Order: sequence, then structure tokens, then C-alpha cells
Amino acid sequence: MTIDPLKTTHEEFVMPTYRPGFSLVRGEGTSVWDSDGREYLDFLAGIGVLNVGHCHPHVVSAVQRQAAELMHVSNLYFNVNQPALAKRLSEASLGGKVFFCNSGAEANEAAIKLIRYWGHKQGRHRIISMTNSFHGRTLSALAATGQPQYHKGFDPMPQGFDYADFNDLASVEALISEDTAAVLVEVTQGEGGVVPGDPTFLNGLRKLCDNAGILLCVDEVQTGMGRTGHLFGYQAYDFTPDLITVAKGLGGGFPIGALVAAPHVSDVLQPGTHGSTFGGTPLACAAGLAVLDVIEDEDLCALALSKGAYFQKRLTEIFADVDEFEEVRGSGLMVGLVLNRPAADFVGLLMKHGLIALATAGTVVRFLPPLTTSDDEFERALKIIEK
Ligand code: PLP
Repeated sequence: MTIDPLKTTHEEFVMPTYRPGFSLVRGEGTSVWDSDGREYLDFLAGIGVLNVGHCHPHVVSAVQRQAAELMHVSNLYFNVNQPALAKRLSEASLGGKVFFCNSGAEANEAAIKLIRYWGHKQGRHRIISMTNSFHGRTLSALAATGQPQYHKGFDPMPQGFDYADFNDLASVEALISEDTAAVLVEVTQGEGGVVPGDPTFLNGLRKLCDNAGILLCVDEVQTGMGRTGHLFGYQAYDFTPDLITVAKGLGGGFPIGALVAAPHVSDVLQPGTHGSTFGGTPLACAAGLAVLDVIEDEDLCALALSKGAYFQKRLTEIFADVDEFEEVRGSGLMVGLVLNRPAADFVGLLMKHGLIALATAGTVVRFLPPLTTSDDEFERALKIIEK
């Protein structure tokens, strides 16, 4: 791999919050090409963004058409795409109203503000989130993120967050007080190591929240948009949250985030309480509408379930006799290969052989392939992994 001429300019002018290795210049479906023309199978999909694959033609043409007509109007005016996307998200999930923003962290900020505003009326403000959770990098989303290493150096952190242990209902119950307003949880922890939520835990959370009279918010930023085999991850369980946050896969590569509320908390945020200049532009919502079309037309939820089960089974077979192997876990096409040693070296080797994945939580190889990935592409990826 030649040193990309972009590298020098990048290092001089872009803040070093990331350390990119090389540049990708083109994508189509599950394939991406670097600046030397080398093809990779993208089994990370922009970290769970490209659920419909790179540059899906339906999304591309919707964005091109909308860009030529009207990209942006402020939220002081109606734009036809915003209520259309809100209606489809609402009808596919909680049945209430939607607030649009531009990222996962912002969707969680909106949820935290809604919870605070709702809770203040009853003297409650604290939010219980989980250890090893990930909710984004803005200050409150970061405070909700139960990983102290990300808080280091940024204190004082926003107050009002308590951390329970994921999949441990008693630890949540022990933290609920008269100050608690809500519980915030991922149904499968992504960044925390691809850890699926136990049904007794998640269904039990609903009961705990009902008994305490508090809200349950599910962060679907990574688990949403078909990734786990359902449009939203919670739909694999027997409970309905009061709030869900969505981003990543919603725009098919175009930045968009959303907070979806159940009817009883749909009108908590009133004019002047929250807002976003770019939230829900005609362009972003055109992308979101096109992504929903593709997920439905190509039956991507069902494919995520069946292909996810196959991929997980094959990984388990391949690694059965490998000393460094612990387990394969995940939901649908959100898959973690757990090793008993740091995963970064293995991820580096995969990359050398043309397969993009990510090391997460130290020892986990995280795979988030597009839900459109073909059988042939799965076989090619499995061959690389096996090698
Ligand atoms: N929530 C979850 C579960 C995530 O996985 C992420 C990002 O990885 C976020 C929130 C933050 O999203 P964003 O990077 O779009 O702000």
C-alpha cells in the first residue's frame, strides 16, 4: 500500500481525533476501493451506517433528485419529506412523534433533554445507563456512556447519571430512587463488545420502569434500521420502550438522527425547548425515506436474520479448534468474534487480505456488513477469515 499523498495534508490540518490508515475513494454495495485501486469487502459498513450498502442506487437517485430541488429549509417552515419520514418511523415503531437531528449523539442528547424536561415536573432527573454502554461523544451522551475511560480529562461531567450492570436486572433495581426519571439502554451493546441483551433483563426493565413510573429509552443508533434482523432491535423482545434514538443506518450514508417517542411523551418538548438548524432537512429526510424503501423492498430485516445466523454459525465452525477463540455472539448482522487476546492484530491481518472489520472492547472483532451483502461476498469474507 503506497503512502497516500492525502496523509500529509490530513495530518497538518485535521485534528488528530482519528488515525486513518489509508484513503477509500469509491464504494458500491459491500465493496470499497482504496486510492491504489485495491478492492476491500467492507464488513464494517462505515461502523454500521451503510446497512443498504455503499451508494445504493435508490438512495443515490433520491439524494440527487432532492439536492437539485431543495436541500435545506429551516424548521421555521414545513418541508414535505420531514413529516413523511416521521410518519414512517413512527408507524414502524412507537406510534408517536419524531424529533430530527444529525447524529447518534444528538439523538441521545434530545432523549436526555426530553427525559429531564418530563422528569422535572415530578421532581425526577436522574438517568440510569449501563456499564460498557456507548451513547456518543457530546458531553451528556458521554456522561450517559458507562465507560470511565472516555470521561477522563473532561470533567466536570454533566451530573445525574447512574451506571448499572448490563444484563443484571437487580443492579438496575438497586439504583432506582425517587430521583430517577429513566433508564437508557442498548438492546445489544455494540462498542461495549457486541453483547446481546438478555430477554429477561430487557423485558424486566420494562416492568421495573412501569413499577417506578419512569421512562425506558432504547438507544437504537447501532441496532436500528434492520441491523439485528428487525427494523429496531427492541422488536425482537416482548417490550415496547417509551423512546428510541436512531441514526447511523437511517440515512444510508447521509447524516441524520432521530428521537422517536411513544404518544404519551410525544409533546413533552415544546417550542423553544429544543431545536436543530439542520435536523430533518428535505435532503436528509429524502435519504431516510429511500433507505426505508430499500429495507422494505429488499426484505433486508429477514436477510439480516438468516445471513447473520449463517455467518455466526460458519465463524463458530472455523474457529472451533483455535486456541485464541472464546465465542461468536451477536444479533442478526451485528456480529462479534470474541478472542482471548487483543483483536487488533487479527483485524490488521484481515485488512491486509482485503476484509474490513473493527477491533472493539479490546478482544472482540466486530463485523457489521451491509445487510445487502450477497452469499458470494459472505463466502469470500469467510475464506479470508479462514485463511
Ligand atoms: N449510540 C450508539 C449505540 C452508538 O453505537 C453510537 C456510535 O457508535 C452512538 C450512539 C453515537 O453516534 P454518533 O457517532 O452518530 O454521534
